[in-house]
Amino acid sequence: MGKIIIAIDGHSSTGKSTVAKRLAEALDYLYVDTGAMYRAVTLFALENGLIDDSQQNFEGLKSHLDDLDVSFQRNPETGQFQIHLNNENVENRIRTLDVSQQVSKIAAIPEVREKLVEQQQRMGVGKGMVMDGRDIGTVVFPKAELKLFMTASAEKRAQRRYKELVERGEEVTYDEVLKNVQERDHLDSTRETSPLRKAGDAIVFDNSDMGLDEQFERVLCLAQQVMEKGL
Ligand code: C5P
Repeated sequence: MGKIIIAIDGHSSTGKSTVAKRLAEALDYLYVDTGAMYRAVTLFALENGLIDDSQQNFEGLKSHLDDLDVSFQRNPETGQFQIHLNNENVENRIRTLDVSQQVSKIAAIPEVREKLVEQQQRMGVGKGMVMDGRDIGTVVFPKAELKLFMTASAEKRAQRRYKELVERGEEVTYDEVLKNVQERDHLDSTRETSPLRKAGDAIVFDNSDMGLDEQFERVLCLAQQVMEKGL
């Protein structure tokens, strides 16, 4: 069966990555979480004092972009690809609410997007890939064979994300998480460079009332249909 590119876009905390990861495993495809790449650049900016709630030194960040290396490397223990920043594994450090609160500002910088989009396009050359993000079907792979757009109510998404953060031991409130989800939706869809929007040919998936297994089965079925058509 011919290999395809599957682009999964959508709002924050819709469970895109969970479905994308499972799909990639089932198809023996590569999975790329592009949100992790924007989060890694944000972590760099936070740890180097280039951004916080009171200031944002975008010029300083831009001057570091050429020597900032973001990559996915296989964890020898789990076999999973994890995000690295300048060769250091930052998989856990990029998932905090602190990073979530700054990432959409960093992701709106055109130079940051240019660097990461170019890298994402190189990764997809061989096809056989599931990539999730905000602009995969519109900008990174506008010719992807299958495009999905995932969404759910902001409250449902915040509940899921809140549970995840608490389970990981972060001290956050549900209201903070809901506010972050709503703020990111707003910033991501109103920014000038490649805003979050549904590609014309993307299939919408509202998973407010859908379990993970059901989502996975439906998406897998769609992927198989597309692959069979392209035989
Ligand atoms: O997918 P995740 O929620 O981890 O993404 C974090 C943030 O990175 C998003 O809120 C968005 O601002 C940015 N992002 C983006 N384009 C992508 C992936 C993520 O702008 N392709």
